[in-house]
Amino acid sequence: MARDIRTRRLATRAVHAGERTRSDGFVPMSTPIYSTATFIYDHLADIDSISAGERTGFTYSRHGNPTNAALEAAVASLEGGGVALSVASGMSAILLALLAAGVEQGTTIAASQEIYGVTTKFLLDVVARWGARIEFVDVFDPAKRNDIWKLEPKVLLLESLTNPLLRVPDLPSLIKEARGHKTRVIVDNTFATPLLLRPLEHGADFVVHSATKYFGGHGDLTGGVLVAQEEHAAEMRHFARLVGAVLGPFEAWLTLRGMKTLPLRFARQCENAQRLAEWLSTHPRIESVYYPGLDSHPDHALAAALFNGQGAGGVLSLKIRGASREDIFRLVDSLELFLKATSLGDVQSLVLYPAISSHRDLSPKQRERLGITDNLIRLSAGVEDAEDLKDDLEQALAKL
Ligand SMILES: *Cc1c(COP(=O)(O)O)cnc(C)c1O
Repeated sequence: MARDIRTRRLATRAVHAGERTRSDGFVPMSTPIYSTATFIYDHLADIDSISAGERTGFTYSRHGNPTNAALEAAVASLEGGGVALSVASGMSAILLALLAAGVEQGTTIAASQEIYGVTTKFLLDVVARWGARIEFVDVFDPAKRNDIWKLEPKVLLLESLTNPLLRVPDLPSLIKEARGHKTRVIVDNTFATPLLLRPLEHGADFVVHSATKYFGGHGDLTGGVLVAQEEHAAEMRHFARLVGAVLGPFEAWLTLRGMKTLPLRFARQCENAQRLAEWLSTHPRIESVYYPGLDSHPDHALAAALFNGQGAGGVLSLKIRGASREDIFRLVDSLELFLKATSLGDVQSLVLYPAISSHRDLSPKQRERLGITDNLIRLSAGVEDAEDLKDDLEQALAKL
């Protein structure tokens, strides 16, 4: 029996008192924030057997933490995966997915040309530098499919719902073909969320999320998650420990809390986005609306089939008729409910101007080629009352 802490001296009590009380006999309803770097066991043999993988447990928070494990179990469950790892950001989830997929010197990565701007830059500035070959491909035009496979890519990296034009790739057929070419498929499912689509169920190898967006949902954390089937667990854990892009237990807890209302929030966001898209497409100041829930969108039928009638996402983009950069600045500054934030998926509605933010680093010509003109803005629907969101857009459009 260990000596009672009360019999120790003050400096010793300052370090040890109150800690490590056993929680036998009760179960906290909400997983606590295990803000601890390490885990203590009575016997060294326990640490030995955990480290050997003979029993489950926690030793060191870079390797795993109970708060993070609770979040990981929740995400794996929603995505239909066998294993999930929570990491510091969406970007670190992408890095780990590439490592776990076997990217090394000489590997060819085929990446959709529509992927998130920072992912593009990450591939070019980091992954290419380490000796991988990066090829940007068209995943939307069926006539260009063979151009992808001719590259013999080890990895195909794409997004299930793109930014800012909300394109939807035909994931089931792309994954089927990729399997035939022994290409591993990584899907960034941030915009679609597992409510609309679960890429692992279609045979994707890895799914990544920026938990900063819909999973967290309240604009109060940065985080990422990587999900896969159990067969990839060992590689994922191996690289996660080495890279050390750990999600802090507090952020893990916030994300876990966010997950509980994800279906409710996302359903409302999809509904609000659909209503705004329909209303805006009849508005005289609007040149075009990009939203897969509209008949006019090139991927409308595919989205309806793939997303099982669960909605078409919470993000929409619009081109304002004849608007210059100055007009867009005035319009965005006039909005009161839509917050000017470089993010999406929050309970608050958000507005973003791609030409100066997500696609700022591209030349005007490159932007034009991607359809990202100077009169394009992106909206992320929050959970507010749709009528108030309409009123806000109406008053701002009236100021043009
Ligand atoms: C935001 C985002 C990322 C990056 O995630 P962070 O959490 O900001 O690192 C990756 N992919 C998509 C589609 C995103 O929207």
